[in-house]
Amino acid sequence: MKEHLQFYIDGQWVAPASARSLDVVNPSNEEVVSRISLGSAADVDKAVQAARRAFESFSRTTREERVALLEKVLEVYKRRADEVAQAISLEMGAPLWLSKAAQAAMGVAHLKTTLGVLKGFEFETVHGTTATLYEPVGVVGMITPWNWPINQIMCKVAPALAAGCTVILKPSEIAPLSGILLAEIMHEAGVPHGVFNLINGDGPGVGEAMSVHPGIDMMTFTGSTRAGIAVAKAAADTVKRVAQELGGKSANIVLDDADIEKAVKQGVQACFTNSGQSCNAPTRMFVPRAKHAQAMGVAKAVAERTQVADAMSPEGMAMGPVVSHAQFSKIQGLIQKGIDEGATLVAGGTGRPEGLSKGYFVKPTVFADVTNDMTIAREEIFGPVLVMIPYDTEEDAIRMANDTPYGLSGYVQSGSLEHARQVAARLRTGMVHLNGAGPDVGAPFGGYKQSGNGREWGEHGFREFLEVKAVMGYEPKPAKA
Ligand code: NAD
Repeated sequence: MKEHLQFYIDGQWVAPASARSLDVVNPSNEEVVSRISLGSAADVDKAVQAARRAFESFSRTTREERVALLEKVLEVYKRRADEVAQAISLEMGAPLWLSKAAQAAMGVAHLKTTLGVLKGFEFETVHGTTATLYEPVGVVGMITPWNWPINQIMCKVAPALAAGCTVILKPSEIAPLSGILLAEIMHEAGVPHGVFNLINGDGPGVGEAMSVHPGIDMMTFTGSTRAGIAVAKAAADTVKRVAQELGGKSANIVLDDADIEKAVKQGVQACFTNSGQSCNAPTRMFVPRAKHAQAMGVAKAVAERTQVADAMSPEGMAMGPVVSHAQFSKIQGLIQKGIDEGATLVAGGTGRPEGLSKGYFVKPTVFADVTNDMTIAREEIFGPVLVMIPYDTEEDAIRMANDTPYGLSGYVQSGSLEHARQVAARLRTGMVHLNGAGPDVGAPFGGYKQSGNGREWGEHGFREFLEVKAVMGYEPKPAKA
C-alpha cells in the first residue's frame, strides 16, 4: 500500500501542518489501498501564499508560453493516462474500460479543447478609443467530487492555467489518487512552482478554509447542492466569484413518435453508466402511458442483462460498484423507499447482486408506475436506479420534466428531429441531448436552477477564469476632419 501523506505546495511535496489521516478504500473489495492526510486552514494558507507569489509572474506570461506549457502537460498526461485510469478504478470503482475510454480520456479532451480555445482567443478588443482586456481572475480554489474525478479536475485546471491563473486544488477525499497523480504530472511537465498546488482534505477542514480565505479570488466547486451552497455562503464575505456545478435529476422524454425499443434501451444504459453516478444521468424516463408496458419489458431485459463486477475485472463492459459504504446505504434506503411508496419494482431491488458478497455493488434497478412526486423521482439517488414515469399528453411530460429543483440536463427521443427540437426548447436545463447524442467537450456544461451557476468546458469554461477590464483612451482620438 502506498501512502500519500504529503501535499504539493510551491512545487514540492510537503508535510501537512497537522496529522489527521484518512484511508482510501477500494469499493470493489472494501480493502484499504492508500492513506492520505487531511489538511487544515494552515495548509491552505501556505498554498495561498505560494499561489499569490506565483500569480505575479504567471499572470504575465504570454499566450505562446502558456500554450507551450499546456502542450507539455498534455504530452506527460497522455504518457501516464493508463496510470490515471488505474487510480480512478481503484479509488471510485469505475470499471477499467470506462476509466480508460471515458474517465481518463476526458483529461486529454479538456487539455486539447482548452489549447484550441487559448490559441484563438482575443484577449484584447477595441471599440473606438476604448479597449476591453481579458485578464486572469487570480488565485483559484477548486473543490471537486469523486464521481468523474479527473474530468472534473481537468475541466477546471486546464482553462484556469490557460487564462494565467494559479490554482489550489482540493480533490474529493474519497477519491484523491488521480488528483495526486495529476500533481506529479504537473511537476514532470515543469509547471512553475506555486502555479498548481494540491491539498487533500475534507469539506469542513480544507474546503471551508479555502472558501473564506481572502487570498483566493475565485472558488469553483463541483459536487452536491448542499456543499455548493455552503461554499457560496462562505465565499460571500470576501465577494469571491463562485462557480457551481451541482446535482441533477434529469428527465429523458420518450416521445410518442420515437422508436420505443431503441430509445428505452439506450436510456437505461445511459442511466446505469458509471453505476448511475453522473450528475447529468437520465434518471427519470417519461414514457407515453399506452407504451408503458412495452417500455417496462425492454427496461427489464436491459437491466437483467447488465453485468456487475469488480472494477479491475477483465470481463467485457460490466458495471462496477458504487463509491462507498455511505453511498451504498443511501441507495439501499432509497430503493426501499420506492417499494414502500408503491412504485412497481421491474428489475433489481435491495441487497447485493447474486454472487457478490463483498464490495459496494448495487443491483441495476428499474422502477415503473412512478409518479413525479415520489421520493425516488425527486431525490438524486446517484446509483444505478431508473424511474419510469408514464404520461398522458406531451404537455404533461414537459411539465413534469421541469417540475424539479434541478436543471442540469434533459434528454428527448423522437422520430422527428424538428419535434425533438421543439421539446428541447421548452426544457429548463443547461443541456439537452437529442436522440442519444453524447457529450461534447467543446459545448458549455452546466445547469439552470439549483444545478449551478456558470458553465464549464470549451470557450465558456475558459471565460469563467477571466476578469474583464475596460481601458478608456486606449487608442488616440481620431483627428477631426
Ligand atoms: P459533496 O458535495 O459531498 O463533495 C464534493 C466536494 O465538496 C468534496 O471535495 C468535498 O470534500 C467538498 N465539500 C463537502 N462539504 C463541503 C463544505 N461544506 N465546504 C467546502 N467543500 C465541501 O459531493 P460528492 O458526494 O463528492 O459528489 C456527488 C455530488 O456531486 C452529487 O450531488 C452530484 O450530482 C454532484 N456532481 C455534480 C456535477 C456537475 O457538474 N453538476 C458533477 C459531478 C458531481
